[in-house]
Amino acid sequence: MNAYVQRVLQDLKDRNPNQPEFHQAATEILSSLSVVFDKHPEYEKSGLLEMLVEPERVIMFRVPWVDDNGNVHVNKGYRVQFNGAIGPYKGGLRFRSNVNLSIIKFLGFEQIFKNSLTGLPIGGGKGGSDFDPKGKSDNEIMRFCQAFMSELFRHIGQDTDVPAGDIGVGAREIGYMFGYYRKLANEHVGVLTGRGLAYGGSLARTEATGYGLIYLMEEMLKEKKLSFKNKTCVISGSGNVAIFANEKVTQLGGKVVAMSDSDGYIYDADGIDLDLVKEIKLARRGRISEYADKRSGAKYVAGCKGIWSVACDYAMPCATQNELDLDDAKMLVANGVKAVGEGANMPSTIEAAEYFQANGVLFAPAKAANAGGVACSALEMAQSSMRSFWTFEEVDRKLQSIMVNIFRNIKAAAERYDMPGNYIAGANIAGFEKVATAMMAHGVC
Ligand code: NDP
Repeated sequence: MNAYVQRVLQDLKDRNPNQPEFHQAATEILSSLSVVFDKHPEYEKSGLLEMLVEPERVIMFRVPWVDDNGNVHVNKGYRVQFNGAIGPYKGGLRFRSNVNLSIIKFLGFEQIFKNSLTGLPIGGGKGGSDFDPKGKSDNEIMRFCQAFMSELFRHIGQDTDVPAGDIGVGAREIGYMFGYYRKLANEHVGVLTGRGLAYGGSLARTEATGYGLIYLMEEMLKEKKLSFKNKTCVISGSGNVAIFANEKVTQLGGKVVAMSDSDGYIYDADGIDLDLVKEIKLARRGRISEYADKRSGAKYVAGCKGIWSVACDYAMPCATQNELDLDDAKMLVANGVKAVGEGANMPSTIEAAEYFQANGVLFAPAKAANAGGVACSALEMAQSSMRSFWTFEEVDRKLQSIMVNIFRNIKAAAERYDMPGNYIAGANIAGFEKVATAMMAHGVC
């Protein structure tokens, strides 16, 4: 590894102890940027890497709220404004009990490169809270979202920082947060994306991450003259990304036989009935196990990790970070998997991703493969600024062309650095180049 990169990485680990997810994301990205730093010694003189790995701003705050029984709870709130060199900070808010600074920093760091890859003018940021919406009433969710926004509103703005949803933050939460922002700031602007259609949202935003993943994979598969037609797929998770990835796979003639939630997975050899999954997970916020109660022939297995033992042509981890480790990768390869596309952020461990690549599996890394969500968010920002809206077909067409371009750019970057087919390196390099150019132009600041 390039000596400068190695030194900054070690320094990052020493100065940010107890942040394993951030270390993991930084190691994965910086290792593949090593070749770029070999070619560009001027970056070291400018302290580019030291600036890049340090967030421009970290905002941490308390979020006190009252439950339906009158009990007071205090959660932690975060917003990490990581890098705004190419545009306003942009990245989702995650509400889940395991959220901590390490997780938000890993997500924010990845977001810089992902947003750059979209070709749109958006910087990298991420935020959230260790609040878990599961099992809370609508009124509790509303009070929490209002308490969260009562601090966050000072730090965001349509030209400053534009959050969106992520795990645990969907249309309901965005609605409550937007309503409270509007009340506090007295302005109706595109300060959050993923908004409802009635108040400034974009058509196709809900579908964008899942559809985008499949558009990018389609392009990658074409390299080997493959497609989704008649292929068996496994998709982990059953949230926003997983559901719409399934929808697009099915439209393209593939069959999804397994999906999961954090308790377990379902297997349906006939192909998952997606309307039923939507009814359980989106309409009722229920558990995936209910699927097997309603479909004879389908089975439910407790424990979400087991999903990687299901034989498939293509696997799409769409649930959460580090959900697919080396053992899972070995099982998938032994069962004949030909392509893996990451819908979730950093779902594969570094060892698992390396194993796929070493065994000839086509591998689409998250920061390229799931960039469709944030790309569509940027299209939502454009529509807000124009005060006018595109049709579903127009947004979907733009999304598809963005995903195809991302694939072409990561492929070209990998080839430029003599690593053909290594889309992990390609994505990191292509994402980095634009940010580096902007930072060099801005000087030390
Ligand atoms: P959701 O909250 O809509 O859904 C998350 C799903 O993953 C739920 O079904 C959840 O189950 C399940 N899950 C959580 N942990 C596990 C686990 N360990 N094993 C199996 N399933 C699990 O989130 P999203 O679909 O929006 O996000 C999923 C991933 O995609 C995240 O990594 C997110 O950062 C990433 N992403 C999302 C984007 C978006 O536009 N939404 C954009 C880019 C990336 P349960 O119901 O039990 O909680």
